[in-house]
Amino acid sequence: MTHRVAAHRIAIVGAGPAGFYAADGLLRTRPDLRIDLIDRLPTPFGLVRAGVAPDHQGTKAIVRQFEKLLTQPGVRFAGNVEIGRDLSWDELREGYDAVIVATGMTIDRKLGVPGEELPFVWGSWKFIAWLNGHPDFRIGPDLSQVRKVAVIGNGNVALDVARVLAKSADEMARSDIVPEAGAAIAAAPIGEIAVIGRRGPENASFTNNELGEMGRLARAVAVTDPAGLDVQPPASDSTPERLRKGRNLEVLRGFAKNQPGSKPITVRFVFNRSLSAIAPGEFDLVITCIGYSGVDYPTGDDVFAVGWARRGPTGTIPTNRANSLAAAQQVVAWLGDRDPKSGPDPLPVAVDLAGWHRIDEAEVAAGAKVGRPRVKLTDWKALLDTAEGDGPTSSRA
Ligand SMILES: Cc1cc2nc3c(=O)[nH]c(=O)nc-3n(C[C@H](O)[C@H](O)[C@H](O)COP(=O)(O)OP(=O)(O)OC[C@H]3O[C@@H](n4cnc5c(N)ncnc54)[C@H](O)[C@@H]3O)c2cc1C
Repeated sequence: MTHRVAAHRIAIVGAGPAGFYAADGLLRTRPDLRIDLIDRLPTPFGLVRAGVAPDHQGTKAIVRQFEKLLTQPGVRFAGNVEIGRDLSWDELREGYDAVIVATGMTIDRKLGVPGEELPFVWGSWKFIAWLNGHPDFRIGPDLSQVRKVAVIGNGNVALDVARVLAKSADEMARSDIVPEAGAAIAAAPIGEIAVIGRRGPENASFTNNELGEMGRLARAVAVTDPAGLDVQPPASDSTPERLRKGRNLEVLRGFAKNQPGSKPITVRFVFNRSLSAIAPGEFDLVITCIGYSGVDYPTGDDVFAVGWARRGPTGTIPTNRANSLAAAQQVVAWLGDRDPKSGPDPLPVAVDLAGWHRIDEAEVAAGAKVGRPRVKLTDWKALLDTAEGDGPTSSRA
């Protein structure tokens, strides 16, 4: 496919929130740009699809905004194209006037303690990617004998993991959890989930709503030791941080009044505990939720990083917006009055917007049959076959 265009071409690598916000920022100032949103998956939306918990459909609703951007003139979705594998970063840079790196961070950080490589120890990314149907992570842990679970970490991902394990099948019925994962969790003999933080409760990173939700689960009671809750948020913190932490302490004081064992599952919040080793016996499953790292990408005047790839794995979906909008302005300034590059379309055959829509429609239709928002396709071949449908897999509008 060869064509010559007079517009600047921008490659955004990674079709997660940061990539979409960057595309939005570019189009606001330069609607004439040709923007390719490239993702290694045949599906867009990054961690909104593969990370955000399957029972938090409200959070996932942001994809409707992102979807609108995909239909803007000049914007092309190119799924199933991995930069560094299907096209080198150098080739990419040769073919585009600027490159925005929005590749996120999806390698589980290690605890660095003996026993971490044991088969019952899972990183949260691997575990949540399984629940969420990421095609690279189709096998989950064997839950059939799991009675005691340790969830290591004191952020919202730890709460997501504990909550999804603790919720009843009824509570998960309107989620888009992968059916096999949902069935395995419902059938598991889980009796206790310990959410373990190495620092005190006054330092937990939980947000108030997510922590409060742990107190309203049908088959699980949240408990914690009242000793140790007589603390205050650090005075050196900002006012919003102190308010958040203070409210968390109130919620935890409520949990401290609950009776362990009063529901089938006890979720126990444990603070000030560092695991120095993991050995079989104490827990049947350990899930580490201690952050992520990413892979390196090239640097250069024409390369701009955004989102988790730039800032590291912190913050919510909207946190990525400001940084992406700022990067978009830097790109526009960099383009300045440079002549647009010309040349053949640098991209290999990709899953285009129509292909993603075929996947979307198939998943939503499968979900409608069982009263769920969607049932995800989790197999690469099924995803690619469905994307292909009867039509072409690559086109430029
Ligand atoms: C488990 C979990 C739960 C979360 N829950 C919430 C929540 O409830 N609410 C909330 O607001 N935030 C939540 N977050 C945070 C939120 O998901 C992130 O802030 C956001 O997704 C980061 O956006 P990003 O675009 O930088 O990265 P990502 O969303 O990770 O997107 C990166 C994209 O780049 C693609 N990619 C990577 N490498 C390449 C390559 N070489 N070539 C092509 N494509 C590539 C990936 O496939 C991916 O689609 C959660 C995060 C996690 C991990």
